Amino acid sequence: MTDATRVLVLNSGSSSVKFQLIDMADGSRPAVGIVERIGESTGRIEYRPQHGGTRSTERPFPDHSAALEAVSAELAADGLGLDSPELAAIGHRVVHGGTTFTAPTVITDKMVEELRELVPLAPLHNPANITGIEVARRLRPDLPQVAVFDTAFHATMPEYAARYAIDRETADRFSVRRYGFHGTSHQYVSRRTAQLLGRAPESVNVIVLHLGNGASASAVAGGVCVDTSMGLTPLEGLVMGTRSGDLDPAILLHLHRVAGMSVDEIDVLLNRRSGLLGLCGDNDMREIARRMGEGDAAAQLAFDVYVHRLKKYVGAYLAVLGRVDAIAFTAGVGENSAAVREAAMSGLENLGIEVDSVRNAVRGSSPRLISTEDSRVAIAVVPTDEELEIAGQTFNLVRQHAS
Ligand code: ADP
Repeated sequence: MTDATRVLVLNSGSSSVKFQLIDMADGSRPAVGIVERIGESTGRIEYRPQHGGTRSTERPFPDHSAALEAVSAELAADGLGLDSPELAAIGHRVVHGGTTFTAPTVITDKMVEELRELVPLAPLHNPANITGIEVARRLRPDLPQVAVFDTAFHATMPEYAARYAIDRETADRFSVRRYGFHGTSHQYVSRRTAQLLGRAPESVNVIVLHLGNGASASAVAGGVCVDTSMGLTPLEGLVMGTRSGDLDPAILLHLHRVAGMSVDEIDVLLNRRSGLLGLCGDNDMREIARRMGEGDAAAQLAFDVYVHRLKKYVGAYLAVLGRVDAIAFTAGVGENSAAVREAAMSGLENLGIEVDSVRNAVRGSSPRLISTEDSRVAIAVVPTDEELEIAGQTFNLVRQHAS
């Protein structure tokens, strides 16, 4: 075994590549950054080394190859290049693993072919993920590379939670089932919550509320996901920044037949013009809070719809799990909005769920409890770290393969 302990985590989107170099020996991050506006006339790379001295350069990046080569050059300038002996592996975030990939997977030619077959399930995300993988493999063909899937943690959902109640044959033919997303976050946060309670993950039942721009809830029993709110796509479930979450599926038919909207128009409406944005014109919870402070009724209604949906999922997952030890809030809204946390947990005292408003108001970047001493269920704020989870899973898999 060499002393290569660093993992480069790549998150390749359609027009951006986010990267973090993480050292698994001590959890430090020698470099993090992003390349933005790939394929546009003006692009930007931002590179932040651990010890300060952020470098930001504006120039065009015609494609993902150019973007990753720029990342590689920035890293090399600090002696952290893709050829450095400390680099153990590259870990790629991949959005959809379908039913084919239910665990982190070492990337091979055959694996990439199988991944390509899943593109219809995530046409907006998987192609960019695959491009990132191909370019990184071209740059370092000999280095182990691993794909970590957003869907994988949810693959343990029992069949009755994953199945939609539609004709089985149609569902199977078109791979229609609930997959769930944000899996690396739910996995990381549920484990970290158990640690915060000083207990083994296997003995703890947690409801995780990942509230970012996209938002999802999961029910995790003893470290294993048993239900989650997102489905075939990330549209189902909670109210999000710009996505509707749950709605009566007949609304789509109504919009098509009565409003004359096309499938693409309905897609845009539900994914990009709904949620908080659709309800009040803003999708940022900070702006909504500010407007509520001024007595803005539309912002208040958006907040109330958001919180009501959240509370319904908490109730559902209390029932699914039977016994709940902790409820964990994470991601942009979950980590920062004391108002959302307080409102979502209000009125649940008879279920053993009680927020301590003083603790809840304290800001911080480490995992912390915000429940009262008497609350039977612990309520926690646990900052998510999807990159660290991807790096950890990548490193463990590469080590297993090497031994
Ligand atoms: P993404 O899903 O894009 O990764 P994040 O987890 O970063 O999103 O969450 C982004 C959202 O977090 C913002 O749209 C905003 O609504 C919310 N947010 C960030 N900071 C705060 C804050 N201080 N108070 C309330 N909401 C916040």
